[in-house]
Amino acid sequence: MAEYQTEAAVIIVGGGPSGLATAACLHELSIPYTLLERQDCFAPLWQKYSYDRVHLHLPKHFCQLPLMPIPPSYSKYLSRNEFVQYLNDYVSRFRIRPRYRRLVETASYDEVAGKWTITARNLGSGEEEEYTPRFLVVATGETCDPKIPEVEGLHSFTGETLHSTEYRNGEKFAGERVLVVGSGNSDAYNVEGIVHAALILLKYLPLKWVDWMVVMLSRCVYGDLSKFGIQRPKEGPFALKLKYGKYPVIDVGTLNNLINSRQIQGDDYLLSDDGLPKPNFPNHWKGKNGLYCAGLSRRGLYGAAADAQNIAHDIKAQLSFK
Ligand SMILES: Cc1cc2nc3c(=O)[nH]c(=O)nc-3n(C[C@H](O)[C@H](O)[C@H](O)COP(=O)(O)OP(=O)(O)OC[C@H]3O[C@@H](n4cnc5c(N)ncnc54)[C@H](O)[C@@H]3O)c2cc1C
Repeated sequence: MAEYQTEAAVIIVGGGPSGLATAACLHELSIPYTLLERQDCFAPLWQKYSYDRVHLHLPKHFCQLPLMPIPPSYSKYLSRNEFVQYLNDYVSRFRIRPRYRRLVETASYDEVAGKWTITARNLGSGEEEEYTPRFLVVATGETCDPKIPEVEGLHSFTGETLHSTEYRNGEKFAGERVLVVGSGNSDAYNVEGIVHAALILLKYLPLKWVDWMVVMLSRCVYGDLSKFGIQRPKEGPFALKLKYGKYPVIDVGTLNNLINSRQIQGDDYLLSDDGLPKPNFPNHWKGKNGLYCAGLSRRGLYGAAADAQNIAHDIKAQLSFK
């Protein structure tokens, strides 16, 4: 086993927007960190696995990462290219240099040393690397792995099948008959005014009330959909998103799951078996023994930005206290 020697006090697992935001906040506070990303680029979900015409579905001020606002010249709803450009500028500005092609496989806490031992597979050389930081930040995403269900008869289907992460645009399907299976679309999110107002209201009012208002407004806009066989869920969209983590995305289908938290030994407090935080908001980001998670609160980029700032300041406080 090759032990990777690093002065880094913190290991961040995952180079998506949440990991990048955490890295920037740590950089700003002059805290050394190492960021491990299994793919060969940052934010692979956006650079490699999104279709051409995808746009952020929330207005840009809800999607910016800490310390660097999205420029006024960018569209209100960023296109994929704009978002990737923004992330690119973000990485340059905060000099974020992830160690790519590092798949984190295990993490365990050593009570005596007061440190984590993290093993990562170097996907280039095949070697196993070991890291021993004091703090561990899990930023592995809520939706980074495609979920492809077993569909009876699919193997004998003679046409082409692909998961939405492989879809770029419709050009090659021109003139073909295409069946799209699955939609993670939430009706409330399609109404710009409603979602905008709701997100602001969420800062001041309980989620239950905002949900009620959103459902009422959405009823006014769409009317009764049950005549088309579409039954509304009993709970409101924000409650559903929190409870089941369903994302309001179009055509992307349901992506799922992250690092298997059962491999984090030394944590029975922060992450559940499905990799999501056990403590409720707003206490979801901090575990015990220097373990944190960023971007797993089902609150999108806005939530990830808040997590990153909280984590960096908490680590700073602990390092100063030592
Ligand atoms: C189509 C689409 C549109 C969206 N639009 C919005 C929007 O408008 N506003 C909003 O707030 N949110 C939006 N989201 C939701 C969310 O903000 C994004 O998914 C965002 O990319 C989440 O960032 P993340 O860093 O938490 O996770 P990811 O982007 O999923 O990054 C996680 C990273 O961790 C890496 N990783 C995982 N496991 C390991 C491991 N074991 N070792 C090393 N690396 C690992 C992955 O390779 C990945 O790079 C959207 C999502 C999708 C899919």
